[in-house]
Amino acid sequence: MQKYIMALDQGTTSSRCILFDKKGSICSMAQMEFTQIFPKPGWVEHDPMEIWSTQIAVAAKAMGKLGVTEKDIAAIGITNQRETTIVWEKATGKPVYNAIVWQCRRTAEKAEELAKDGFGDEIHKKTGLIPDAYFSATKLAWILDHVEQGRERARSGELLFGTVDTWLIWKLTGGQVHVTDYTNASRTMLFDIHKRRWDTEILQKLDIPCEMLPEVKPSSTVYGYTKDCLIGDGIAIAGAAGDQQAALFGQCCFRSGEVKNTYGTGCFLLMNTGDWPVISGNGLLTTIAAGVGDQVPYALEGSVFVAGAAIQWLRDDLRMIDRAAESEIWCRKVEDANGIYVVPAFTGLGAPYWDEKATASISGITRTTGKAEVIKAALDCIAYQITDLVRAMEQDTGMRIEELRVDGGPTRNGYLMQFQSDITNKRVKIPDAEELSGIGAAYMAGISAGVYDLEKLAGNMKRSVYEPKMDDEIREKKYAGWKAAVDGVLSK
Ligand code: ADP
Repeated sequence: MQKYIMALDQGTTSSRCILFDKKGSICSMAQMEFTQIFPKPGWVEHDPMEIWSTQIAVAAKAMGKLGVTEKDIAAIGITNQRETTIVWEKATGKPVYNAIVWQCRRTAEKAEELAKDGFGDEIHKKTGLIPDAYFSATKLAWILDHVEQGRERARSGELLFGTVDTWLIWKLTGGQVHVTDYTNASRTMLFDIHKRRWDTEILQKLDIPCEMLPEVKPSSTVYGYTKDCLIGDGIAIAGAAGDQQAALFGQCCFRSGEVKNTYGTGCFLLMNTGDWPVISGNGLLTTIAAGVGDQVPYALEGSVFVAGAAIQWLRDDLRMIDRAAESEIWCRKVEDANGIYVVPAFTGLGAPYWDEKATASISGITRTTGKAEVIKAALDCIAYQITDLVRAMEQDTGMRIEELRVDGGPTRNGYLMQFQSDITNKRVKIPDAEELSGIGAAYMAGISAGVYDLEKLAGNMKRSVYEPKMDDEIREKKYAGWKAAVDGVLSK
């Protein structure tokens, strides 16, 4: 009897494997960190072989903890760091270069160049993305530029391109299957999200041979079976999605208008917009969400660069606290931030401002301002930035967001969660499980393997709830103060 669903969660700093039972509960977990390679300032690489070896090792370890074999695993679901780009030789399986990680800025100039002469708008319309080095397109072109005869070899079918999902599926199937899913394809900046196919014009502009691209499939479908694999052969690989889309699915945001936010170092807010690819007037990205069967829903995405990182700054640079969790104790010491605002524009500001030259500030300081107010303002700025995105999404879609489903380390901060609910005037819901991307990957695989039922999943999850309690007038006054503080740091 096959009792378990395996989620492979391939993240930026570690590879993780989680085994779920048929009810969707976590039974076993293993994790391994791997090497971050920084060849130059602003450059970030991973060794694809290490991504693979750590991923398969944690899979074996998670199975070992439960004493199960391949016969006990009904299906594998994959969730992965998005946009990270790998090129390898089809014949040998050897990568021709290290994986260029999403964070890597080496192609910033190339991305700017590509966006010139109106082509940036063209890219935005087709791919839903705002041209940037972040996405796979310019990273792939860079590898082809720097590998001997890269383009010729790619054209003749010798080289294959993939994001991390593609690489893992290819390795798991013993080099038999070269595929990606819609969510990962939608982050390459090479994929027309409306026509749902690789875009010939963008490919030509970057001189990327279409022969090297994977076939694009739905997120919840059987891609292939494990072969010549350490964890055993014949296990169905039945789901895949980029980490943020997997978390949206894991939060059971299956319907249009449902929103999740993941708080971490930064934040990722995604809204399911159903059949409608909303092109944002506020600098949000349009992307493909994970669907069931042949469904290909869309999502709007906004990110905050500095969220939990503001708390790390309090801890490591200002040395106001020893641990992140201590910030909550200080927040409880004062009623209010008393007009203090922290705008954490350490690396400029993202949506809806998009100002890379904006600089950070602490404003509203008086003679009586103390540590507690500054700490409180640093926590508040996380919630204000999310409010900016929530309001932008409501404006772009004309829909009212009912609630925020949230996850990530900072959701342990009860003060922050209540303030988030108050300042957005939305209910905030926190699931009792933490691994939302892994859960999403398991759900997708479990649904296509016939183990999980979509309708039942949403009912399974236990959540704690914060309800908004703030007076409308106070909320609008506080938010207006935030907008004024942001206005003070914008470069134009
Ligand atoms: P990531 O995967 O991005 O590292 P995590 O979900 O592990 O994110 O969250 C880590 C971040 O959350 C850190 O930036 C840390 O400062 C912040 N954080 C953790 N616990 C708390 C807390 N109780 N209150 C506020 N921030 C917190």
